[in-house]
Amino acid sequence: MRSLVLLLVAAPLLAQSPAMKPIVLHADRVLDGKGHVIAGGTVTVTGDKISKVDKAATGAATYDLKGLTLLPGMIDAHSHLTWYFNRQGRYHTNGDGDTPIQSMLSTAGNAYATLMAGFTTIQSPGSPEDKDLREWIALGQIPGPRVITSLNPLSNNRLGPDSLRAIVRRRKAEGADVIKIFASASIRDGGAQTMTDEQLQAICSEAKAQGLRTMVHAHSSESIKASVLAGCDQIEHGVFANDETLKLMADHHVYFDPQVCLVFRNYLDNRAKYDGIGNYNEAGFAAMEKALPLASAMFTRAIHTPGLKVIFGTDAVAGAHGRNAEELVCRVQASGQSPIDAITSATSLGAEALRMGDQIGSIAPGMQADMIAVQGDPTKDITALRRVMFVMKGGKVYKNEK
Ligand SMILES: [Zn+2]
Repeated sequence: MRSLVLLLVAAPLLAQSPAMKPIVLHADRVLDGKGHVIAGGTVTVTGDKISKVDKAATGAATYDLKGLTLLPGMIDAHSHLTWYFNRQGRYHTNGDGDTPIQSMLSTAGNAYATLMAGFTTIQSPGSPEDKDLREWIALGQIPGPRVITSLNPLSNNRLGPDSLRAIVRRRKAEGADVIKIFASASIRDGGAQTMTDEQLQAICSEAKAQGLRTMVHAHSSESIKASVLAGCDQIEHGVFANDETLKLMADHHVYFDPQVCLVFRNYLDNRAKYDGIGNYNEAGFAAMEKALPLASAMFTRAIHTPGLKVIFGTDAVAGAHGRNAEELVCRVQASGQSPIDAITSATSLGAEALRMGDQIGSIAPGMQADMIAVQGDPTKDITALRRVMFVMKGGKVYKNEK
């Protein structure tokens, strides 16, 4: 309890309040998040918004980010902030002895690590604790990225269409921003379709009627196809997506959020911490090892599929928070994506998928002042994203190591 009080008291000191006086940022280059590079650009922030973008240095800078590249705060479309390793060095599960307060402190720690790593917005597909986390961060009580959440995901494939529709309406009433659905098994269990076409149609059509987006966990081509034809908005993972399903997603303007390395490597590197819990067993780890080259090859086919909107989500779990950008490094170095496209996927395209493209994900007048600065030039060397020196969210500076 004492540490919770300390955290809540100390946290606001980490952030400098948005001044009414404009803040002027000057950097070696500004990436607008939509593929443009402004050499030697200057960005002015008034309150919580960007008020001006200049193509050159204009007067004295409040923050002279020399040697750095300024870009929009990154967006991770798939992060599980509530997943952590307990003090016994094991993946936390209910019943391991941790109290809800201890779990929430670990979650707050993950949120802080994620923000410091340059991610100013995350989408969480599935945990009821997100509701308070979202609110406390939004109030500025604790430092963290903006949280968009599905609250509890929908995975029960024994329910009829009417019951599923009722759950969608209940999630909306509970405050969910998005509906998360499991249409296929985990990669550790083979990834085959688990919900019927009819069940998927019920969920995605009801969500649409309620004005909510849908994001669907789907690995097999069949489960992706069924989800796309059911009118769902975004597909997660898709390790076994074939060319036909990649094209189908493009034709239906469905966003695709695949992963190529971080999630798999994180599990394999932390095997002892997960081993023996649920499907984290011999067969499960073998399946993830096998998924690595498949996912990488699939990703390369995905980014070469005309019209397919490939966004950025890491599926960050315990062990991966704060290392989210490693997935971008893999996408560029192992799967052949251009650095500028990788950055766009984690900024303006990610914002568009969240239907927040008019608020976040790009540097332009009127946008939220969510910006980060990294050492070096990430358009030439993607590993620059590992060197986040400056973080601003909503006009508040949360990190300044320049
Ligand atoms: Zn996930």
